[in-house]
Amino acid sequence: MKKLLACVTSFIVLSVSSVIPADISYAAQKPVVVVIDPGHGGEGGTHPGAQYNGLVEKELTLKVANSLKAELEKFDNITVKLTRTSDVDVSLEDRAVFAKSSNADFMYSIHFNASNEHEFYGSEVWTSAFGNYYKKGCEFGQLVSSEWSNLGIYQKGTKTRIGSSGKDYYGVIRQSVARGIPCVILEHAYLDNSVDAARVKDDSFINSLARADATAIAKYFKLKSRDGSLDYSTFNYPTVKKPSKKVSQDESGPDVCSSKVLATDTATGNILVEMTTSDKQSPVIYFSYSYDGGRTFCPLQMWDRSKDTQSFNVKVPSGTVDPVIVCRSYNNYEKGSQSAAVQVTGTFNY
Ligand SMILES: [Zn+2]
Repeated sequence: MKKLLACVTSFIVLSVSSVIPADISYAAQKPVVVVIDPGHGGEGGTHPGAQYNGLVEKELTLKVANSLKAELEKFDNITVKLTRTSDVDVSLEDRAVFAKSSNADFMYSIHFNASNEHEFYGSEVWTSAFGNYYKKGCEFGQLVSSEWSNLGIYQKGTKTRIGSSGKDYYGVIRQSVARGIPCVILEHAYLDNSVDAARVKDDSFINSLARADATAIAKYFKLKSRDGSLDYSTFNYPTVKKPSKKVSQDESGPDVCSSKVLATDTATGNILVEMTTSDKQSPVIYFSYSYDGGRTFCPLQMWDRSKDTQSFNVKVPSGTVDPVIVCRSYNNYEKGSQSAAVQVTGTFNY
């Protein structure tokens, strides 16, 4: 009898031990904590961010953040918090303090872009220049860039910027990293360039951007949606090597920028130009051309990053005499280089 009892006991113990640990490990799985930071904010125009084409950055960032929170909460095992939920001024340091007090695994700072030149367009990601913060930012950057690209937005890539102190230039990144929290700035699109702004005006596009951000975050943290329709638990993404020293920004334009004229047709106004450009440090992403010796240039075109040389047609207006071709290229730090001028002889009448 005693022996039998012992047998039963051990059976029970065995069967319990084979079931419970799985439940315990599931219950004990630490939920991912994500802090979303809607950039800018503050009544009375304190920090509106970029304002162009009737679009105000601080309003758009809050729209994306709210929509992103709702999208992320469709997934299991995630807690989502916002650094602001209304039009209030929050310092960059307080945003990082909030992320720290929330025990955040990652902070995503939501922004829209503008440039002094008003000619750039596309999305970009800023990450810390240091160690694992750089690695994590770049790994996430690849994921979100791929989602944004699916929406048809031109992709500028993931970049770093060091300030004069030798630390990360952007305050929200610097303050987060100082508290041990990876942080990226997500510059979704340019408000001051019609290529992007026309789309940003549409609320459904804002929701698409938020869904793209949510998908990238869910892939990064290998989340499953509550309704079972999305499962990224086995999703793998390319890893980025942790850099041994800080990764500085590119301060110079493409190393090579040259052009030549392959053919001219004065009867149609067409000049076939071949351009060669490359940059060892950063990808070349835009180009433009001039037919008046560099006084005026066409809007920035997308450069095919898989090539160093490509050719394109330049159409000069009827009546042009002896046009002079000059080409420019820009890397993803918006640093430009200009080709030598190429004189074309002829009167273009058509
Ligand atoms: Zn901003």
